[in-house]
Amino acid sequence: MKIEAVDFWYLRMPVVEDIGDGSQDALLVRVSGGGQEGWGECEAAPVTSIAAAYAPMSHEACKPVLDGVIGATLDDPDDILRLSRRQRRICMDHLQAPHTWSGIEIALWDLLGKARSAPVWSLLGHRKVFPKRAYASVLFGASPQDTLQNARQAVAAGFTAAKFGWGPFGTAGVEADRDHLLAAREGLGPEAMLLVDAGQIFDRDVEAAAERMAALEDVRAGWFEEPFGGECHKQYAALKARFPNVPIAGGEAAHSVEMAEHAMEFGRVDFIQIDTGRIGGIGPASAVAEMARQGGIQFVNHTFTSHLALSASLQPFAGYEAFDLCEYPANPKQLARDISASLQCDADGLISASEKPGLGVDVDLAKLKKYLQQVEISVNGKILYSTPPI
Ligand SMILES: [Mg+2]
Repeated sequence: MKIEAVDFWYLRMPVVEDIGDGSQDALLVRVSGGGQEGWGECEAAPVTSIAAAYAPMSHEACKPVLDGVIGATLDDPDDILRLSRRQRRICMDHLQAPHTWSGIEIALWDLLGKARSAPVWSLLGHRKVFPKRAYASVLFGASPQDTLQNARQAVAAGFTAAKFGWGPFGTAGVEADRDHLLAAREGLGPEAMLLVDAGQIFDRDVEAAAERMAALEDVRAGWFEEPFGGECHKQYAALKARFPNVPIAGGEAAHSVEMAEHAMEFGRVDFIQIDTGRIGGIGPASAVAEMARQGGIQFVNHTFTSHLALSASLQPFAGYEAFDLCEYPANPKQLARDISASLQCDADGLISASEKPGLGVDVDLAKLKKYLQQVEISVNGKILYSTPPI
């Protein structure tokens, strides 16, 4: 088939708060061809990402992300890989490009899967899917008491693992952080897995992160995630060398296979967390999953938005039995819930990738009308992009 159209919609909650919750807005992508539609979501700032798709060519290595996509052939996975390679070449100097491309690339896989009546994971070469333990991904509360409540809610909802992140962690001193960690452990009970996400709060400061490690050991944290900036590989390795007993997780910031590769090789992370909505889509994420397998590192998805994004992030590692954890956005904003139906966990708190064609999730545009933001990008009066009607 030929790719006939690519459409972007910027969706937003009525109120967007200054908190670490990425589900407050969304950039939805639809790719049409052969009488079918594929869907994707960029994990990115929507308006800058739309601009990356349509901004006029600056020079040979800085073209609009959409250049060459419409009219291209889409008949098998190699066509997607070829388009991805070309996109990297023509957007070399275009830092937002991987974020924009991610949503398109995901939609291409969804479309191809639907055209072939095959789930995306099977197009990636996997024969079957293995269930993953879903961990509830939530923010730390404003107070330890709130964190305790959040933890109790996760257990009541049937989760056997939960991650607490962002919020006040790292901002109010070592004792305040200890109180939050103890509250999280108390709320989860002794059995559940407790994961902790520092949200890059310590930037490059290894000593500040080191001061939290005793408390993390005391609450038996299953991992300490992103203590430092996404590319601070030296700092990750330094912390790991000093505290070998606390597993370290990172990689969600990766917007290329190489960034993830460096987090594993030089940052020495124990868990590599990949967001298909950032790294360039499902193809690059799959390449990282295979590198992780070869390196004896645990691959896990990063997802904090819709279940369309969750389904996309599951595909690259759905077929690996050893990669058995899955980030599950447990409390996203209503916008994320309205983008697609939820992927449900089973009675044991396990989740599996869908057996349906493509990504196996349907997007109901009519439900999203109320979130639609009107955007227009023009240069010298010529309109390059305006929000398509729903
Ligand atoms: Mg994180």
